Amino acid sequence: MELTDSEISLLIIYTGGTIGMVKDPNTGTLKPFDIDNLYKYIPVLESYPFRIDSIAFDPLIDSSSVNSQHITKLVKTIKEKYEDYDGFVVLHGTDTMAYTASFLSFMLENLNKPVIFTGAQLPLGILRSDGRENLVNAIEIASANEEGTPLVPEVAICFENELFRGNRTHKTNAEDFEAFRSGNYPVLANIGVHIKYHRSAIRKPNFKKLKTHPELNPNVTVLKLFPGMSEKIVKTILNFPDLEGIILETYGSGNAPEEKWFLDALEAADKRGVILYNVSQCESGSVDMGRYATSLAMQKRGVISGHDITTEAAIAKLMYLLGKKIPIENTKELLTKPLRGELTPQNKN
Ligand code: ASP
Repeated sequence: MELTDSEISLLIIYTGGTIGMVKDPNTGTLKPFDIDNLYKYIPVLESYPFRIDSIAFDPLIDSSSVNSQHITKLVKTIKEKYEDYDGFVVLHGTDTMAYTASFLSFMLENLNKPVIFTGAQLPLGILRSDGRENLVNAIEIASANEEGTPLVPEVAICFENELFRGNRTHKTNAEDFEAFRSGNYPVLANIGVHIKYHRSAIRKPNFKKLKTHPELNPNVTVLKLFPGMSEKIVKTILNFPDLEGIILETYGSGNAPEEKWFLDALEAADKRGVILYNVSQCESGSVDMGRYATSLAMQKRGVISGHDITTEAAIAKLMYLLGKKIPIENTKELLTKPLRGELTPQNKN
């Protein structure tokens, strides 16, 4: 039986971001304001037929300031409130929304309730703001259920009439309302007169008990390759003593220079136990190691394919897996497999 409106309860977790920002009269810059602004600009929230509670980060943050503590705090909040609510809406700045959503997807194992991220490109205080529509849509989606089972039991991003899997999403536009794209995965829902859920793309609930993983290992970095990179700088990064994992943002289908110094540096890092994870700079398509000689050379030096994962999800997955302190071989194996729908299963590596 579908839950009736009065039985549904949602929690809005307001972390900050443009959606609730106002102009500082002294400097003219945008700064996060308090949660009362939400109700002031979207009075309909008060009259929603559901129970909607809200809590806010103190202080509220621009999402460019998000760090591991903020992410862990979100995970802990959802864990503490998990049994009390049917769904969660996270108001978050757009700049790092794809990262935080990716982190949460890994850190909330056996998630069986919606955790819907949204925000805005224009603050609610501005008449043309996209925030109102985004928030109302996110609330609708977080509350949608069929016979009491949520329709979207996963971490997703609701933005400008589309719903994306959080760990498949990338912010692609700083100007348009259509700020996000999911280049390697279909949208989970299209929002028009009706909300059309694409059921086959949405994760199925497993009805297991929520298990949270609050530990993240920060000893990772991203190396975006570009023609003419400095040998000295690249070697210094790969040799950095604390480094445990590195995402190599490679060209096209996972290609990189075939220069000896570069391949030797990769081999040396691999031998020291550094995980080398190959993610494409392209927004769509995937790493296919062995398609070209250049990527085969990397594979022989221990580089692992991230297939069609986004850089955001690769960072989150690496920090999450390294935080679990499991044997390195297990970590390497898990990096090639989908854990939360973040990559398409591969037949070969
Ligand atoms: N700088 C803002 C943030 O990410 C941008 C936004 O919310 O759209 O918090």
